[in-house]
Amino acid sequence: MSDIEKVKCLIIGSGPAGYTAAIYAARANMSPVMYQGMQPGGQLTTTNEVENFPGYPEGITGPAMMMELEAQAKRFDADIRFGFIDKVDFSGVIHKVWTDGGKEIHCETVIISTGASAKYLGLESEQKFLLNGGGVSACAVCDGFFYRGQETVIVGAGDSACEEAHYLSKLCTKVTMLVRRDEFRASKIMAERVKNTENIEILFNTETVEVIGDDVVSAVKVKNNQTGEERTIPATGFFVAIGHKPNTDIFKDYIKLDETGYVVYEKPGTSLTNVPGVFVAGDAADKNYRQAITAAGTGCMAALDAERYLAAKGH
Ligand code: NDP
Repeated sequence: MSDIEKVKCLIIGSGPAGYTAAIYAARANMSPVMYQGMQPGGQLTTTNEVENFPGYPEGITGPAMMMELEAQAKRFDADIRFGFIDKVDFSGVIHKVWTDGGKEIHCETVIISTGASAKYLGLESEQKFLLNGGGVSACAVCDGFFYRGQETVIVGAGDSACEEAHYLSKLCTKVTMLVRRDEFRASKIMAERVKNTENIEILFNTETVEVIGDDVVSAVKVKNNQTGEERTIPATGFFVAIGHKPNTDIFKDYIKLDETGYVVYEKPGTSLTNVPGVFVAGDAADKNYRQAITAAGTGCMAALDAERYLAAKGH
């Protein structure tokens, strides 16, 4: 028993949601402990320039912003730890978690801020330009601005792809949308909006063969999966909008998730989950907005809700 650590507030995940929760919880004397997870800093560390987070008039790189958030949390003595939580037991009043090193921690409150991961096609050329920041992105709202006045390609046929294609169409001269089947998955209204947008060309039954370019993307080679015909589309940006996977697998036995794995809020407008004392923030519960600023906002809500929960228990 003596090896078991007891904490008031455990934060799982280190994106903008987790760090904001840590700042608020630390300033409320909750002595938060954060496990950063597999990708310290979260999805923003794969983004180049962040220009839409208020307070950075000149913009800031994703990794630099996450370092600043970490420094801000540490300033108030938040305990930020490298490592991840790989097992939880939320069946009792005290919430038990285990780290990847096998350490057992008993928590009065837990804030889930494990985020979501964008899905990619997995092509070698796609991954190359993703890693070098050369023109592959999974977020049109984040990166579309860099391609204004240029031609882009977007893959996907769901509501996200339609929303992002439409967003890009307002910035780019032309958007080519690659749909792998002969129909959209998106709701009719979203698909219609894309179809009725003049500078969006939709290629059905079409898959990506290769993203082409030297240091940056210059074209995309595609193939019609019915006829086998290949063609090369000039483009400086390649957007992938084929869905996200929320990082919530370890919670599934205890926390109510929707059919795609997003945490379901117990009470809309709060950060409460179905388990008292366990709260959620950021993309783990958000398939609509997925922005750093909305994640930070819900991180604040989770810390305030956790503080109120502890106060109601007499802490
Ligand atoms: P979805 O899972 O709904 O759609 C994913 C799309 O990507 C599908 O069209 C799928 O094709 C395609 N796809 C998957 N893998 C590949 C691949 N390897 N190559 C090419 N295409 C591929 O994800 P979304 O992110 O669009 O939406 C997730 C949820 O969020 C949905 O419930 C959606 O309704 C909701 N949402 C709602 C919004 C709104 O209402 N404003 C906005 C955004 C999302 P296929 O159809 O062939 O399987």
